[in-house]
Amino acid sequence: MNEYDSDRIIDLIKINGYEKTLHSDQADCYIINTCHIREKATEKVFHDIGRVKKKFRNRKKPILIISGCVAQAEGDILIQKEKYIDAVIGPQSYQNINEIIKNIENRNIRTESTEFDVVQKFDSLNKIKKLSNKISSYLTIQEGCDKFCKFCVVPYTRGPEYSRGFEEIINEAEVLVSKGAKEIVLLGQNVNAYSNNKKKLSDIIYKLDEIKNLKRIRFTTSHPIDMTDDLIEAFKYSSKLMPFLHLPVQSGSSKILKLMNRKHTVNYYYDIINKLKKANPSMKFSSDFIIGYPGETKEDFNETIRLMSKIKFINTYSFIFSPRPGTPASKLKSVDKNQALIRLQEFQKLSEKIKYNYKNELLGKTVRVLVENRLKNQNKYFGKDEFSNSVIIESTRDLTGLEIDIKVSKINTNTLFGKYDKKKDEYEAA
Ligand code: SAM
Ligand code: SF4
Repeated sequence: MNEYDSDRIIDLIKINGYEKTLHSDQADCYIINTCHIREKATEKVFHDIGRVKKKFRNRKKPILIISGCVAQAEGDILIQKEKYIDAVIGPQSYQNINEIIKNIENRNIRTESTEFDVVQKFDSLNKIKKLSNKISSYLTIQEGCDKFCKFCVVPYTRGPEYSRGFEEIINEAEVLVSKGAKEIVLLGQNVNAYSNNKKKLSDIIYKLDEIKNLKRIRFTTSHPIDMTDDLIEAFKYSSKLMPFLHLPVQSGSSKILKLMNRKHTVNYYYDIINKLKKANPSMKFSSDFIIGYPGETKEDFNETIRLMSKIKFINTYSFIFSPRPGTPASKLKSVDKNQALIRLQEFQKLSEKIKYNYKNELLGKTVRVLVENRLKNQNKYFGKDEFSNSVIIESTRDLTGLEIDIKVSKINTNTLFGKYDKKKDEYEAA
């Protein structure tokens, strides 16, 4: 979502005469768009500021703006502590960025803008031109969260759940496709909780199916409790929805899920996975895990290992529990740090093994790849297969934007490799 927000910020500041530069040492203005989900977020910001200061030692100071969730959660502290910062802007108020920059340019006014005006934000964003021309483009349809998992800062930094209007989403998708997007990734902190005027996420998916030059649809991040039957069926009936879902589970222990206020049990999660596989037998899954949540015993952790072994997620994101300021779980007694680290390592070792075995089975098989871009100065292209596996393709021909079949000739844990077969020449024109 920060990537989507950063692109929109670039669209906005263009109106003011600014543009993104690849030469950061010559920038007139720095915008550091931040994430607050886990520890060290604020330290990272201070580090980044240190780097900017170093670059501009003995030179005119650039404008420095901190945006995103760290600005929302700790903006007052940042601006007090670090005089080099000109403004802090929360994720729901960046539509004001041009006015803020003008105030800094003209009158050197320092600003803290952290209102939750999400309706006004999207109203303003709808009026500006989208400049992004990425083959795979993000599209935010929903923001914020009302679920209040006990470990999570999102409800405090992104605010309450808000779903954008159906028509404005479809319009934005059409603009993205007209600019060259072949894949749209629908975004939301709780994307499958999308609800606006009786329209649901499945309605958006079926409507996007009708856009001619769009080839692929994905959505992220989903909460298991909002995987309704109509959405599960979309994996069967939509012609463009990819057979892959990121569905965070957090833990394999129902006791821990309850302590986290996750609102689902492990059995409920298995039921959803089974329904999805029934709807589309080729479905694959990835997930998020929090290891060492307060109260997690060795037996709870073993249940997480069991879940991992059973579902065989083809990708996982796992983190040790990180107490976030202001969340209920931050006040709970932590699991011993060393224990948590040992468990994380065991979990990640298993996850890597599953991932490697899965990729190994793909050796010699053909995968369908949407090619996103060329690797710098090489005759190699980067793309993703239907299950979001990264694929590197050797080719002397420009493959950008094409959807092609590639035979996997080499693998590692994170990537599939193959060559573009010129003789086959069965690619579809961009
Ligand atoms: N809304 C999604 C869901 O409900 O699953 C997750 C969104 S959250 C921004 C992304 C991931 O960060 C979570 O799935 C969780 O695994 C991780 N995360 C969030 N808060 C955390 C914390 N305090 N400590 C460790 N990991 C955390
Ligand atoms: Fe955070 Fe996701 Fe829980 Fe919302 S549902 S509080 S975003 S983890």
